Amino acid sequence: TRTPVNVTVTGAAGQIGYALLFRIASGHLLGADVPVKLRLLEIPQGLKAAEGTAMELVDCAFPLLQGIDISDDPNVAFDGANVALLVGARPRTKGMERGDLLEANGGIFKPQGAAINAHAADDIKVLVVGNPANTNALIAQAAAPDVPRERFTAMTRLDHNRALGQLSKKTGVPVSEIKKVTIWGNHSATQYPDIFHAELAGKNAAEAVNDEKWLAEDFIPTVAKRGAAIIEARGASSAASAASAALNHVNTWVNGTAEGDWTSMAVPSDGSYGVPEGLISSFPVTTSNGSYEIVQGLEINEFSRTRIDASVQELVEEREAVRALGLI
Ligand code: NDP
Repeated sequence: TRTPVNVTVTGAAGQIGYALLFRIASGHLLGADVPVKLRLLEIPQGLKAAEGTAMELVDCAFPLLQGIDISDDPNVAFDGANVALLVGARPRTKGMERGDLLEANGGIFKPQGAAINAHAADDIKVLVVGNPANTNALIAQAAAPDVPRERFTAMTRLDHNRALGQLSKKTGVPVSEIKKVTIWGNHSATQYPDIFHAELAGKNAAEAVNDEKWLAEDFIPTVAKRGAAIIEARGASSAASAASAALNHVNTWVNGTAEGDWTSMAVPSDGSYGVPEGLISSFPVTTSNGSYEIVQGLEINEFSRTRIDASVQELVEEREAVRALGLI
């Protein structure tokens, strides 16, 4: 029998948490043969609801689920964590300035990073989902100097999956035959979904689509603003798709990308593609044996260059803002 993997989920009582926990417990995070222990972190007001979710998890009698602990103390919740999904965050509310938003999230992600540093397992892998995800990951990373910095990542897999969905809808090619789509930059409206290296059933996607107007005026804004469109249609923010993408992100990181394909993850830059070193920015990455590599040597055309630079510039400004606040 395998030893269970400790999975810590923050914001466990929220919408995404509710869509995420049942699938982690049924094997969709790490695999159908990997037992898990869940460690749920909530703020004090969220503890009761988290206990309710835990009751439902018990009632599912998932064979892989070997325990559930709930706490409002990060030092407890991250103790022995092998995988940490940082979902809880302070969302931007109307009229809130960026500085206030970053400061509020600093109050969440700095202590969580410190708790990860002090208590997590040596093989800890961190995925930040809570927004502004890239910069929240940077804050947590800075507070965890003893953890290898590449273990801190942020989620752009939902944007990646949205791009697959839109390309499939436009061309009729099933998503299973679409490869090498890339999300560059920040998980925000400035993100750049790139299809110039993508393949549709083995053919170059940009050439197969051959419609730059659709690309610039339809595809890119649809992918980048999908979250707002879902709130408008559903009356609530995307939760199931965000949870699904979080499972995909960790599953791919642990179990590897397929031959001839890559995925998108926001990871600390090594300076590739002119992205300043250390920024947590989305890149095309391949994964194997639990580690990832940024895909090298792609040719970046003018159309892509301007868009990547704009999104990276936003990340530079966010990093300056959290530096000025003393958060990193
Ligand atoms: P959700 O579960 O819907 O969202 C959680 C976070 O995920 C938000 O920051 C949200 O950012 C982000 N997110 C990233 N991608 C997406 C996406 N595609 N669609 C929607 N959200 C996305 O929020 P709830 O308010 O339902 O729940 C949050 C929970 O976190 C609450 O239970 C709260 O108590 C808890 N919390 C826990 C903390 C802790 O454990 N220390 C700290 C803070 C909160 P955005 O809204 O900007 O899109």
